[in-house]
Amino acid sequence: MGWEKMNEHECKCPCGKGRIYTESYSDDWNRYETRGPYIECDECKNRYHIESFHYNHHPGKEYSIHYCVANDYPAYSGTPYHGKFTFSYNVKDVKPVQYFVENYSLDSLHKVLDMFEQYKTYKNIPDTGSGSVAREIVRRYKSWYNTQRIKTISEVVSEAIHEYYSFELQFDTIAKGKAEHETYMQEKKDNSIRLDL
Ligand SMILES: [Zn+2]
Repeated sequence: MGWEKMNEHECKCPCGKGRIYTESYSDDWNRYETRGPYIECDECKNRYHIESFHYNHHPGKEYSIHYCVANDYPAYSGTPYHGKFTFSYNVKDVKPVQYFVENYSLDSLHKVLDMFEQYKTYKNIPDTGSGSVAREIVRRYKSWYNTQRIKTISEVVSEAIHEYYSFELQFDTIAKGKAEHETYMQEKKDNSIRLDL
């Protein structure tokens, strides 16, 4: 019962005196799991840690690429690349106003407000261009408060427009942060040692 070790994959560590390895396990339910990579070399352990990137573009063809990254490689210090709402949508913690500020440009919020004023109800809003964005906002709001009353949602969107720059991060700054973070990650990969695992 439980997990059973099936095999190991290994490659040489960067200094060449030891190795780096992963272990694969399976259980009675035919589930598979890979553990590691582990660095088995004191010298390299002092200099590097491993960072792994997982890809699952095609179901059943998941794979990971592992890098030895220098322990003193500087941490990301650019523009923040996610707001409070990016990973979890807990409306109890953050006001919807902030969600709109972090996820929509000021321009698109203005257009959404125009849509609300022009069409009054969800079903009348056309599902194209700014209308699609407006409908998306209504659905999101409904998922939080179980209402799609346009007048109520308009008030929240208006508030987001008026308070747009009072928040620390806006849609544009987050987009800028995302681009900076992507560049940072690419440089980090380029400056690290890709493992043949
Ligand atoms: Zn080594």
